[in-house]
Amino acid sequence: MNSINDYAEIVGKETIDELQEIASHLEGKVIQNINSTAVGGGVAEILSRMIPLLKEVNVNVEWDFIKGGERFFEITKKIHNSLHGVSDVVITKEEFNYFDKITNDNLADMNLNGDIIFIHDPQPIGLIAAKKRPGFKEKKFIWRCHIDISSANTNTFNFLKKYIELYDASVFSSPLFSKKLKIPQMLISPSIDPLSDKNKELDETQITEVANRFNIDLDRKIITQVSRFDRLKDPLGVIDVYRLVKKYTDCQLILAGGAADDDPEGMEVYKEVLEKADGDKDIFILNLPPTSNIEINAIQRMSTVILQKSLKEGFGLTVSESLWKKKPTIASAVGGIPLQITHKYSGLLSRTIEGTALYAKQLLQNPEYANKLGLNGHEHVKNNFLITRHLRDYLLLFIKTQYNNENIIYL
Ligand code: UDP
Repeated sequence: MNSINDYAEIVGKETIDELQEIASHLEGKVIQNINSTAVGGGVAEILSRMIPLLKEVNVNVEWDFIKGGERFFEITKKIHNSLHGVSDVVITKEEFNYFDKITNDNLADMNLNGDIIFIHDPQPIGLIAAKKRPGFKEKKFIWRCHIDISSANTNTFNFLKKYIELYDASVFSSPLFSKKLKIPQMLISPSIDPLSDKNKELDETQITEVANRFNIDLDRKIITQVSRFDRLKDPLGVIDVYRLVKKYTDCQLILAGGAADDDPEGMEVYKEVLEKADGDKDIFILNLPPTSNIEINAIQRMSTVILQKSLKEGFGLTVSESLWKKKPTIASAVGGIPLQITHKYSGLLSRTIEGTALYAKQLLQNPEYANKLGLNGHEHVKNNFLITRHLRDYLLLFIKTQYNNENIIYL
């Protein structure tokens, strides 16, 4: 892990000094983070970098997981999809009851010892029931939502709302995701860690080694999407885009993905992708283990153009990862992606397969323009979506929970 001072090179020493000063106001408090998986997907990615960094600024932080099992995670994936507004998801009363049963099992098993209990996403949301335990009155509970719930299914949202409104505060990634709630709502965007294995600079030999390992030809153009094998990331649509582009320009396609412990649909979607690729030797479908950070970094860096063709998206960390690497990026205008890409300035926003293909062709044929988008994208991520900004926001949020109704807090 990096020292907090290593980040001074990127964001300046004053920023680091300020972080340390702010963090000192949390002395004596335990911050307990709880989610449902240590690996796979953006939430685990952020926590795996944020927890060590909080420790670096001497915050007493813990990271725990709820236990689920196959049926529970099938239900929570349905909840996830229907919060994103996928219309054909039906969650039965029995399934909601089963969700509550697993919550009760976790409530019985877990030691909720934090002074501030920071719950991530819907899977562990019901742990808020602990708030009414004797001696828990002083503890603060915060719910952090990483999903775009702006078009959530009403039934599903109402089921969660009865939990959400028991929290002391909620956090969303974009102002567009906020809902009418009786509790305070904070806006905190996610972030990437520029010094992690996933994002740090790599030398050419490392990139070549990864390309050789997967038989990818670095002398030919490469279009890439990095994402869990999930229908909402539209990997099949990405193959359609590639086939349209290939009519005009030679290129290879990399679909790099992997599984998440709390996503049971991955294998099924992976098989659909393999079938659609139909043995095309220029399509590389890489089902990578969760430790593949250097591989993903190298794949992003070897790409000519990066796509994020999501149908729904929370924030889309992969977009920031791509922009940070100065890559021309074409992504769907959904969820938090427009926070990261200003159309025709820091990347391109699209809505359809045809539109994405047209832009991809344009970028492959016009490297100068592509380059400029990548450079602007890098600056935008540097100014807005690095982990140091995120750390500052979280520290201030934790401090805020320690004051009840003050509008201004003097540190
Ligand atoms: N990721 C990974 N391996 C994979 C696919 C994705 O490490 O095979 C990472 C990706 O680099 C990013 C995170 O998982 O850091 C995905 O976050 P994002 O917000 O893009 O999507 P989510 O999976 O949370 O919907």
